[in-house]
Amino acid sequence: MRPLVWFRSDLRTADNSALHTACAAAEGPVAALFLVCADQWREHDWGRPRADFLQRSVAQLRADLAALDIPLLVRAAGSFGAAPAAVVDAARDAGCDAVFCNAEPEWNELQRDRAAAQACADAGLAWHLHDDQTVLPPSSLATRQGGTYTVYTPYWNNWRLSLLRAGVPEPAPAPSRRPSRAVEPEPGPSDWGAFDGPSVPSSRWPAGERAARRRLDEFVSGPINLYHERRNQAELAGGTSELSPYLAVGAVSARQCLSAVLNRNGGLLDTLGMGPAVWVKELVWREFYRHVMTGYPRVARGRAFKIGTERLAWRWDDDELAAWQQGRTGYPYVDAGLRQLAAEGWMHNRLRMITAMFLTKHLLHDWREGEQWFARSLVDVDLASNNGGWQWCASTGTDASPYFRVFNPATQGRRHDPDGAYVRRWVPELAGLGAREIHDPPPAARRHCGYPDPIVDHTVARHRVMAAFRGLK
Ligand SMILES: Cc1cc2nc3c(=O)[nH]c(=O)nc-3n(C[C@H](O)[C@H](O)[C@H](O)COP(=O)(O)OP(=O)(O)OC[C@H]3O[C@@H](n4cnc5c(N)ncnc54)[C@H](O)[C@@H]3O)c2cc1C
Repeated sequence: MRPLVWFRSDLRTADNSALHTACAAAEGPVAALFLVCADQWREHDWGRPRADFLQRSVAQLRADLAALDIPLLVRAAGSFGAAPAAVVDAARDAGCDAVFCNAEPEWNELQRDRAAAQACADAGLAWHLHDDQTVLPPSSLATRQGGTYTVYTPYWNNWRLSLLRAGVPEPAPAPSRRPSRAVEPEPGPSDWGAFDGPSVPSSRWPAGERAARRRLDEFVSGPINLYHERRNQAELAGGTSELSPYLAVGAVSARQCLSAVLNRNGGLLDTLGMGPAVWVKELVWREFYRHVMTGYPRVARGRAFKIGTERLAWRWDDDELAAWQQGRTGYPYVDAGLRQLAAEGWMHNRLRMITAMFLTKHLLHDWREGEQWFARSLVDVDLASNNGGWQWCASTGTDASPYFRVFNPATQGRRHDPDGAYVRRWVPELAGLGAREIHDPPPAARRHCGYPDPIVDHTVARHRVMAAFRGLK
């Protein structure tokens, strides 16, 4: 067999099911392909942070594959509609007779793969699709009635039991060097066209699987042990792993993450310390949202999970939206999160929850506006997790927070940023304020610092959103 491995969101050489199987089956050289679908990604609202990181990750993959004598052809395909023909052309050009790739759970990606499988069949190419994005494939777990889980805890219980019964899958090493090259690598277009959004310093997010591995090893060698205590303190370095951009492009696999944790515990899942146990449960949220998206594809198509909430009377106000996007709401903790997002292309999970709830509950704006803004701004944007997170915060999703749960940003700030260090870092005009007032500065202090008044009153906003949700009944 002469395989072509089509890379998508699995940009690594180690523990890559498609690459591993292709190399095992190959009788000679192996070739690889990456399609630049920039028009499609723009349609998916991806911004510059994600596009830049992806481009750097592809360049790193090309170098890593070249060291194995596997040439990576990088070709422009525009949108997914052009992908099937581009795959067949690449296979022909590289003299391949089979295409290997790893499945992606999103709706457009599923349609693309269905069409590509057909195009390959028509061209006489074998088609091999693997499940690789998660430790357990999204549709491998089912409720007792055979359905999709809509609540996290029973999903987690089944996930854990399945692994305890079947054993934890071992990550595969990178393949060994291939005998010879099929074709020469192609660097592809250097200009992917314009993407909206801020430019994020590449030093903040070095690309590639070695960078991902370093980050994983550093995290599991120490910080993970305090994860249960520190994961909500956004200002602390090492409070969380910051691996999400690497998981999003597949520079590291979920199996590698799990195995790095278990290797420090004799391979045992059931006796993990508090920090590692809580971290693994977070990794499984990622799997849960993929499971939900697979069972309820409407969530990947802009629809609410709770259909009834689509009748909610969301408000439209461009000035409010702009104030939220730019971190000018007058709520320091909210503004700090949004400014971190603009500067780093990343935001701490606690702040993602608070800023998302602020937009959907305090301002009563449609969660889709926020989902789109995050997609444009995040280096780690991932449809299943982004959509899951937004719908959780807006109380329109699976296992969502109840509609009457409306975080008070000042209380949240005092609890999770008690000395105000996070706000001081991202909202420097408030840096002179003390811990007692920084999360809710008095009017005179606001004027003195040039910081706006709250865009909306917390109590008024809370009553407004509760009335809107009650109106659905
Ligand atoms: C409104 C909203 C939008 C979000 N958008 C995204 C997104 O586009 N991409 C994304 O990867 N995550 C998203 N998340 C989930 C979560 O905020 C990030 O995964 C996390 O902050 C990444 O930081 P970390 O790598 O340090 O996480 P850690 O705390 O170190 O967790 C390890 C990994 O577990 C997974 N994970 C952790 N928490 C969650 C969660 N709540 N949901 C799903 N997976 C989780 C991530 O892959 C993460 O990298 C969103 C959450 C919310 C509330």
